[in-house]
Amino acid sequence: MNPASSSQTIQNSPIPLPTGTAEPVPSLLASIGAVGISSIRDTLSCHNHSKDFAYARGDYLRSRVLVMGIVFSILTPLWVLIDLIMLPPSTLAYTTPGRFFLMAGLITTIFIAQRSRSRVTRIRVSAGLLIALPAAFYALVLLTLPPGNAHHLAGYGFIPFLLVATLSIFPFTLAESALAGLTLLGLHLFSQHVAATWMTPAGWEQIWLLAALFIVSLTANYFHLGLLLRLYREATHDSLTGLLNRGAMAHHLQQLRAAHPAISMSLLMLDMDHFKKINDTHGHSVGDQVLRKFASILRQHVQASDFIARYGGEEFVVVLLGKNKQQALAIAEHIRQQAEQAHVYDHDGVAVPFTVSIGVAGFRLAETFDEAARRADDRLYQAKKKQRNCVVGV
Ligand code: GH3
Ligand code: MG
Ligand code: MG
Repeated sequence: MNPASSSQTIQNSPIPLPTGTAEPVPSLLASIGAVGISSIRDTLSCHNHSKDFAYARGDYLRSRVLVMGIVFSILTPLWVLIDLIMLPPSTLAYTTPGRFFLMAGLITTIFIAQRSRSRVTRIRVSAGLLIALPAAFYALVLLTLPPGNAHHLAGYGFIPFLLVATLSIFPFTLAESALAGLTLLGLHLFSQHVAATWMTPAGWEQIWLLAALFIVSLTANYFHLGLLLRLYREATHDSLTGLLNRGAMAHHLQQLRAAHPAISMSLLMLDMDHFKKINDTHGHSVGDQVLRKFASILRQHVQASDFIARYGGEEFVVVLLGKNKQQALAIAEHIRQQAEQAHVYDHDGVAVPFTVSIGVAGFRLAETFDEAARRADDRLYQAKKKQRNCVVGV
């Protein structure tokens, strides 16, 4: 599934790796220093972000929109005092209503953000408004001001600078920040045109300063979003196999069932056979290789929309969406056969085979995950008692 489009997309997402079928999580050392192609891609736009990560970022964005909205709403009327001192009464007629509308817009933005929990698009719009409204106010004042009055404006010219610096507070993608930053640069050039400072040494100095601030903000966005992505990945994925961890799978499943209460699902509970013996005979690192190999078999044999999690040590859970029990049994049998035919190599180059036992249960309507998991677990227990290396579904 495409990570950006559904809660299950969570699976194959290259960066947030939100579901079970993701690649293994890179080592901490590698992720600290590296400014790799993938981290640029994942911070460049949100297309590769899973839906779940989009929610997490949305929540984070929202809290900042609320705080910055309040800060801007307080600063906006305060500046009227400076306007009263600095501006001729004729100019005040343009700035005062402008400030009133700006404040109303900012309060509306706070209101939108406040009411947009989990509404990612609305949160992004409110973040955009927070930048766009003061910029529009400045542009409007410049446009409506009678010619020759621009030099009266005190504390307006810094608006593009303030907004470009504000970009660094948000975990924006580079594309989002670039759009806002370039628009603000355009606004500043327009203000230079109105104030006739365009192509003067002072004008060039300001453009240079704004461009430098813009680059600093983009850099802050890159690290900010990169850090969020890494924290999210580490909190939701098992570091050995790259699969979802138990808590993250429960969370995704809860969200999915809240959105689609009637969706049919089946659950496989899988446990490696005599795994302790593999560890004892070949060493723990070979045991780890087996777990990784088995995780890759799981990824290959379920759809991207399904969930795969490492449930415990050598225990895995697969949730198949839109599959009835018969279909789930067939998939489980296929996985069992693939594991039986697979092997890893130990340190002496000797092939180490492995097998898995699987319990299968269908989700009943309104049944909780724990209830279905208990039934699948009972069947797994029967599979272990029976002969191991088999699938039990009743
Ligand atoms: P059964 O067929 O009944 O499931 O036997 P088993 O040996 O697979 O099960 P048991 O619960 O006795 O042992 C599980 C072993 O899995 C014990 C533990 O050391 C090992 N294990 C758990 N997590 C990891 C891990 O991350 N890596 C490795 N190599 N081993 C692990
Ligand atoms: Mg076992
Ligand atoms: Mg076990």
